[in-house]
Amino acid sequence: MHTGAYSDISWTENGKQIGFFSFPYSIDRSPYYQIKVPVCRIRNGEGPSLLLMAGNHGDEYEGELTLLKAIRAIEASDITGSLTILPAANLPAVMAAKRCSPFDGGNLNRAFPGDPYGQPTWRIAHFIEHEIFPRHEIVLDLHSGGTSMDHLVCSLVERLGDAARFARALELMKSMRLPYGMIADNGPDSPTSMAAALRAGCIGLSGEFGGGATVTRETMALTARAVDNLLQAAGITRGPILWTGADRGPETVVLATGGQSLFVYSEREGWFEPAVDIGDIVEAGDVAGWLHDLEAPLAEPEALTFAEGGIVLSRRLHTHSRSGDCLVNLARFEPAEQRGK
Ligand SMILES: [Zn+2]
Repeated sequence: MHTGAYSDISWTENGKQIGFFSFPYSIDRSPYYQIKVPVCRIRNGEGPSLLLMAGNHGDEYEGELTLLKAIRAIEASDITGSLTILPAANLPAVMAAKRCSPFDGGNLNRAFPGDPYGQPTWRIAHFIEHEIFPRHEIVLDLHSGGTSMDHLVCSLVERLGDAARFARALELMKSMRLPYGMIADNGPDSPTSMAAALRAGCIGLSGEFGGGATVTRETMALTARAVDNLLQAAGITRGPILWTGADRGPETVVLATGGQSLFVYSEREGWFEPAVDIGDIVEAGDVAGWLHDLEAPLAEPEALTFAEGGIVLSRRLHTHSRSGDCLVNLARFEPAEQRGK
């Protein structure tokens, strides 16, 4: 009986390896089935170590496609140290083009620290936190808004760890040179990859690179440039590989997440018409949008307003909404004097 994950990847071998992390999951169609999560491991002696990871959610494509490009483009001779690339971390979710796994409904980014004997998503989470993360100094987990959400393109770190670790994380976040970078506050015990990175002793970096379960020329270019900048800042590569344009990107404007007052939620069924776009700067009391009622044609739509000001970070893309759906989310500028507009 298979009880654990299997990998044919050597962590110590120099060169470029392509293989799988395989997770046994016996199903009707295939009693000895394995979920085969693809991995590329590139090593060239001692040095810095970086994990690039995407497909944590299966419908967020800038990271997934950019990491495929990285696998094809980067050879061992291009790097110092080691680079591990995981383009489809929750493979069942990726193959289903969904946020969560069709096998167990699991959301990988809410499954850390995982369970080695649990359902597949929790087994993958456990393997990532306990077997993969500890072998790396730096982890970049690439996200986007997914099917139902558009998101401001931004890098992200968590306000975690001691001052020196946080300063290093912030420095590496800024090295990606995305227009915005966000500091999140989900705490060290959260079930996300960033808290898992902290627990594993890594510098955790993340980012939202687009949304809507699609990619654009612009979001792909920003992602390639950000990953390329990070590879160089971490000392892995010596020159540009994924992004050869002369413009290395702007200074990053730093934002911060906050409490519930930065969120606008639907509290009943309705059809939401936004009054703002991603990246708009708003004040407290401004209208976020209107909730229409197609079952009451004469009823005036309900205007939903922001409780405080900030920059529009994400918005729901599905017009039809139910109670509990987040419609718009803001971030604060941090510090306030960095506000650029
Ligand atoms: Zn995500």
